[in-house]
Amino acid sequence: MAFTFYNTLGRELQPLEPVNPGKIGFYGCGPTVYNYAHIGNLRAYVLHDILVRSLRRSGFEVNHVMNITDVGHLSGDNDEGDDKMLKSAEERGKSVLEVADFYTKAFFADTGRMNIVRPSLVCRATDHIDDMIALIQRIEAAGFTYTAGGNLYFDISKFPSYGDLARLRMEDLRAGARSALDENKRNHADFVLWFTKSKFENQALVWDSPWGKGYPGWHIECSAMSIKYLGEQFDIHAGGIDHIPIHHTNEIAQSEAATGKRPWVKYWIHNEFLVLDKEKMSKSSGSFLTLQSLVDKGYDPLDYRYFLLGGHYRSQLQFSWESLEGAKNARKSLMERVMSLARLEKPIERKTIPAEKAGGIPASPSSSSMDLSPPVRERLDRFNTALEEDLSTPRALAELWGLLRTNSAPVSELLRAVFDMDRVLGLRIEEGIAENKDEKDEDEVLAAEIEGLIAERAAAKKAKDFVRADSIRTGLRERGILLEDGPSGTIWRRQS
Ligand code: AMP
Ligand code: ZN
Repeated sequence: MAFTFYNTLGRELQPLEPVNPGKIGFYGCGPTVYNYAHIGNLRAYVLHDILVRSLRRSGFEVNHVMNITDVGHLSGDNDEGDDKMLKSAEERGKSVLEVADFYTKAFFADTGRMNIVRPSLVCRATDHIDDMIALIQRIEAAGFTYTAGGNLYFDISKFPSYGDLARLRMEDLRAGARSALDENKRNHADFVLWFTKSKFENQALVWDSPWGKGYPGWHIECSAMSIKYLGEQFDIHAGGIDHIPIHHTNEIAQSEAATGKRPWVKYWIHNEFLVLDKEKMSKSSGSFLTLQSLVDKGYDPLDYRYFLLGGHYRSQLQFSWESLEGAKNARKSLMERVMSLARLEKPIERKTIPAEKAGGIPASPSSSSMDLSPPVRERLDRFNTALEEDLSTPRALAELWGLLRTNSAPVSELLRAVFDMDRVLGLRIEEGIAENKDEKDEDEVLAAEIEGLIAERAAAKKAKDFVRADSIRTGLRERGILLEDGPSGTIWRRQS
């Protein structure tokens, strides 16, 4: 398959030509773990997931690295505001690392529930301070830094392509020379590489460094960890569009200044925002929806996944309960349709496919090697094209539905193609069918057991063993099963 992605660097669709043929190095900015992920954040991780699944299904070997930010991220990405981790720890009366640990676990619980494949490597910022210091030393040795007021800054005026990714003009970035908010900065877009004079008393985590005891700026962690694990030049970097003007712009400046190699990253993929009533959803404002809040209202995390797939990642997506309800119903009809196909087929073996498993993609046969009848082949080809053309999940979903409406193909082929498509969509279709079958099996076992006990009770009554007969009735009642004796025998029902 030949992929084309919209590259923010260049603002155009570009064919994917990996640095190393057949292999993809991919870095996706991970969460800052001071609170639960909100459903907007999860949109970003579903995009990463679709990207990785699509590439792997097409045979690429993808090394997906994701960071966990547990230090250095201030509420303003431009070094302004509170330290997010510190503030959260103070509010909760916990240590920063306890908070980080708790929300990291919560994050992976949420992404697991949404069937998001775990990255090949997850790295915590606080485990990589030495790598950050080493990278900052390279940037310093190359002449891109200055010290002021105790902090070490990156001097953007030394890096002429600074505004390329965000299409910012150097004149505007330097405007006003000194920053109104940080008088140490020579240009207002300069940023901190290493803080020593923390503006926060009781800064919880500090490390020794050549610039004094302190802690790293937020942006350096992504440069240091991605270079460490993916090399000095790699293929794809992703994050939300909010990261274009500051975080990713700064990451590029740091990385290219340190290594002298351009481009550091070939393709920049950015997701548009999920919005609530036209407002940006923000983790720091405190009012946001978590995945759990959707579950509490009766939605399955996969309903939300389906909802997200219905929008293209480069379009803003408006969340509403009505549209989530629509997604839930659509997913339900989808499962019912596949289930009815599966009933026509031979029994399906139960398969448990944990998303966390390396690679995470069920090993069904690859669509390209399948021998299929023309209508199915055509749908699969169009599905593949939809993904190849900048990951169009709405088109891919439409092809899945088109496939399910096909009635001129053998059921076994239809099912194989659906399961193959689901390797990317990640709606757990195959497992859903197997689970449904298991539930039915359980019901059958229970019914047989109850019928057996009813017969035993009738026999006990006949033998005037009323103690035994009553104990059977009481035992079943405790399990929520009520017996009703009538003229044509005893019937049972579940307690409502
Ligand atoms: P954070 O944990 O705040 O660092 O954000 C994690 C990821 O979510 C980043 O890639 C952000 O760009 C992205 N993001 C934040 N808010 C939204 C939103 N409302 N919609 C989509 N992506 C978002
Ligand atoms: Zn980052």
